Amino acid sequence: MAISSHHYPLIIIGAGPIGLACGLEAKKAGIEHLILEKGTLVNSLYHYPVNMTFFSTSERLEIDNIPFVSNNAKPTRNEALEYYRRVALAGKLNIRLFEEVLRVTKEEQHFIIQSSKQLYTADHIIVCTGFYDIPYKLQVPGEELPKVTHYYGDPHYYAFQKVLVIGAQNSAVDAALETWRKGAEVTMVVRKEEIGKRVKYWVRPDIINRIEEGSIKAYYNSTVTAIRETEVDIQTPDGLITLPNDKVIAMTGYQPNLDFLRSMGIQLSDDEVMYPLINPDTHESSVKNIFLAGVICGGMNTHRLFIENSREHAVKIMRVLSGK
Ligand SMILES: Cc1cc2nc3c(=O)[nH]c(=O)nc-3n(C[C@H](O)[C@H](O)[C@H](O)COP(=O)(O)OP(=O)(O)OC[C@H]3O[C@@H](n4cnc5c(N)ncnc54)[C@H](O)[C@@H]3O)c2cc1C
Repeated sequence: MAISSHHYPLIIIGAGPIGLACGLEAKKAGIEHLILEKGTLVNSLYHYPVNMTFFSTSERLEIDNIPFVSNNAKPTRNEALEYYRRVALAGKLNIRLFEEVLRVTKEEQHFIIQSSKQLYTADHIIVCTGFYDIPYKLQVPGEELPKVTHYYGDPHYYAFQKVLVIGAQNSAVDAALETWRKGAEVTMVVRKEEIGKRVKYWVRPDIINRIEEGSIKAYYNSTVTAIRETEVDIQTPDGLITLPNDKVIAMTGYQPNLDFLRSMGIQLSDDEVMYPLINPDTHESSVKNIFLAGVICGGMNTHRLFIENSREHAVKIMRVLSGK
């Protein structure tokens, strides 16, 4: 294939914090780049709960050492959206939004990138696609009803509703507390015997106290077995119960799109973590000239890498690409 006008030395897939960090490093190294993003800028963060506070302090979310000024030690989602947007603008990054990469194939010396809008070629690719696109499904009847969501947003929507929150980690706990404070009648279904130990240390006592005082009802060692228009079935240690219900917030976690990596020929580990095989010094994958950065490098273990410990991937990769 002849090199087209849509040829780039480097195409970065995903405009999350780490995709942006890669773009900034590429600029510094003088490597022309294009970032393709299937949604809006920092699309995952945009879809986080509207009132969410990060567990990291703001300086740990900074990329390229650009100061992230936040009103409090732990920044909010809105502050993070402002920060990354300003960074992308000031850094004059070359980003195309709402353009999904559908396929990457290799032809002779180049990669061919088929996006939802057009065809590109590139010498190098960095995949920074994160883990927020595929929710873990409950696999129960009724999960597809419109009243069920895997992406909790704004608590106001749940005012005066009978809400079932599934899960016991940060997202579930935030959803339960926020919707309860907006007047929802909240029940939690928790698979294990307690609220998750990783829940933010300043939030965990709040949820435990609300449960102990009876404001929020929690069923431990329990699972949802069916969802209907006005009811839910829950398997508890004391047997199957049915509760009246208006809305279900299933905070059961997310998984990376590993099929996308497989489709490019990238090898994954053969254990249950299925982490992509990369050179830890360069972040090059098993396919020469395809690099991986960000949380996608952790495979199914989505708790090992986050912004603060994966921003360095961009620096490692650019050291290779710039030949330093
Ligand atoms: C509720 C919540 C709270 C969190 N709090 C913290 C915290 O306090 N501190 C911290 O460090 N981390 C935190 N994290 C984790 C952190 O947000 C992620 O680790 C971070 O977003 C990873 O950045 P990334 O760039 O690797 O991936 P993402 O931010 O997920 O970015 C990936 C991007 O790729 C895009 N994309 C995917 N597929 C394609 C495709 N085929 N074509 C084009 N674009 C594509 C996506 O739309 C997305 O914009 C939190 C996560 C959640 C869910």
